[in-house]
Amino acid sequence: MEELDFSPEAAAFMARDHLLLIGGKRVRGEGAEIVIENPARQEAITTIGSASLAQLDEAVAAARAALKGEWGRMNARDRGLLLTRFAELIEKNAAVIAEVLTAELGQTHRSAKAVAGTLSPQIFRYYAGWTDKIVGEAFDPIVGMDTQQFMAMTMREPIGVVGAIIPWNASPGMMGLKLAPSLAAGCAVILKPAELAPLCASYFADLWQEAGGPPGSLNVLHGYGADVGAAMAVHDGIDKITFTGSTAVGKSIVAAAAGNLKKVTLELGGKSPFIVFPDVDQDLVAKTAAAWCFVASGQACVAASRVFVHADIYDSFIEKVRDAALAMKLADPMDAQCDIGPLVSAQQKARVTEHIRSGVEQGARMLCGDEPVPDVGHFVRPTVFADVDPDMRIAREEIFGPVLSLFKFDDESELMRVVNDTPFGLSGSVWTHNLERALRIARGIDAGQIGINVHAPMSPQTPFGGNKQSGWGREFARNGIEEFLKVKAITIKIGDKPVL
Ligand code: NAP
Ligand code: MG
Repeated sequence: MEELDFSPEAAAFMARDHLLLIGGKRVRGEGAEIVIENPARQEAITTIGSASLAQLDEAVAAARAALKGEWGRMNARDRGLLLTRFAELIEKNAAVIAEVLTAELGQTHRSAKAVAGTLSPQIFRYYAGWTDKIVGEAFDPIVGMDTQQFMAMTMREPIGVVGAIIPWNASPGMMGLKLAPSLAAGCAVILKPAELAPLCASYFADLWQEAGGPPGSLNVLHGYGADVGAAMAVHDGIDKITFTGSTAVGKSIVAAAAGNLKKVTLELGGKSPFIVFPDVDQDLVAKTAAAWCFVASGQACVAASRVFVHADIYDSFIEKVRDAALAMKLADPMDAQCDIGPLVSAQQKARVTEHIRSGVEQGARMLCGDEPVPDVGHFVRPTVFADVDPDMRIAREEIFGPVLSLFKFDDESELMRVVNDTPFGLSGSVWTHNLERALRIARGIDAGQIGINVHAPMSPQTPFGGNKQSGWGREFARNGIEEFLKVKAITIKIGDKPVL
């Protein structure tokens, strides 16, 4: 397999010591040592020290101090300018960040460049514009029988210290979703990236300092979820957790948060439908379905993992999906032609392979996916199953790998029953030029965002999040910043009547 060299800048960054950021200082993690691997080459990139629980306490103290110090006093305009500088630095360094992302995650360099160079800075710029638009209201409250004696106002204040816990996929985008609105709101943040892919977060820590982020405003702790992540979820000094990851861990965070009733926002798993009617350009839509199921080797929460095809075109369409899957080039992700990189880890490959085995065992028809893979690297071929029964495991469970299930449908109401018969409700799309039908189906899918003739477009202006067990709350847009604000009402007596 052809490998391409990393640039000297990226290689030097990755080989460096990856320290924590606590209270404006880079310090070595005193907890367990974690080896970071390139999943395409199965080579160690570097070893990092995870944070000890004492260092978590220090980060919480530093964040609390920041809220009372320079960061808490910074005016809204300056906070916006800081976030803008940060966005500019991400853009300036996007080529190197994209290489780091490709190295630690195995995401294709092509898509890593879009995440690091476009999506991530766009999110920071968008929320930079929100800092000075956080305002309250003033009104005449009706107290008892009296409408003239009082005036009231609302203030919207930062919720406090935020713990941000992110998964390994597309981390510059994940950091945008978590850090941009929380910092724009004026919160102090403790970020814990995934232990499998923490290096982009280490890069962002450098850039936040370079941009002039005050001490303690952003703290970065490396470490395992079961240690550092779980300790954040129970920590009394943290006011809110914003989390992206699996539904199982999301539930454990909710349970842990009960101790101090910290607020929680969750972006969890998905099993998103992609619904195709006969009136579309079949070649294009089949390619799009494959592209959106196999994006990031299927390690995307919005992946189009359930493709529903109308009976009139089912036989020809599923062949087109198979051909699109077979045409995808599996390669070292630094290769510009690579469509499918490896999965993030040996464990993830084992999990996905087990799902594929269950599909075969439960009687789904495998159209492709069993061609050989390279010996080195955690590669799984894009796998397409036809004639999938809605009760099969591959139809019900989130696989988080390159596995596409095809379902045949005829009747629209039966279609909608099956589409919504899932614990997930993250995303989905419908493909037809019949306007009434498109809107009827878009309204009928129980999910946070639906595409009509487009799948999962990401825009910072468009609320993003899940229904049912796909999450709590929304990111992006005004909704995203509201999650990091709390409302205080202040009532003032203005009338001259004595009030007890
Ligand atoms: P995960 O195991 O839930 O991990 C996500 C993050 O939580 C990681 O930083 C992890 O740390 C940490 N963590 C693990 N156990 C924890 C605990 N007990 N308490 C606190 N934190 C803990 O998910 P993953 O396997 O990395 O990622 C795949 C999953 O994420 C999929 O289910 C996918 O759908 C979901 N996801 C959802 C979205 C979305 O926006 N809805 C986006 C991407 C991914 P370590 O990794 O360091 O152990
Ligand atoms: Mg995990």
